[in-house]
Amino acid sequence: MPTLFAKIIRGEIPSKQLYQDDLVTAFRDINPQAPTHILIVPNKVIPTVNELTSDDEQITARMMMVAKKLAAQEGIAESGYRLIINCNGHGGQEVFHMHMHLIGGRPLGPMLWGSSLVG
Ligand code: 5GP
Repeated sequence: MPTLFAKIIRGEIPSKQLYQDDLVTAFRDINPQAPTHILIVPNKVIPTVNELTSDDEQITARMMMVAKKLAAQEGIAESGYRLIINCNGHGGQEVFHMHMHLIGGRPLGPMLWGSSLVG
């Protein structure tokens, strides 16, 4: 079964796409947590960070470079932003097609919102 994000990447499910190249696609999150909330997704399905291999180094580097480019494009490079990759249950991952969140456009508060450092 193709993942939700694979269908979005192929254009089978509509999205507000901002960027696409041979390795990654970026589109706006459907439920934005801030004025800018973009998902940067490998075109190839990698379920979680745990499945990354050394063959994927170019993809992960590209994800970071696209995040930097889109932050500048969104006008949030100087004010600041957060890059997040959730992994599995405790990480809060909901879509098992690895992706990076680019979130900004307002102060984001403490890093581990909604969770407790003391369990
Ligand atoms: P995760 O919790 O897996 O790190 O993040 C999944 C993200 O995908 C969530 O922020 C959620 O709002 C977003 N999302 C879920 N379904 C869709 C969709 O159909 N389209 C878009 N653009 N984003 C989605």
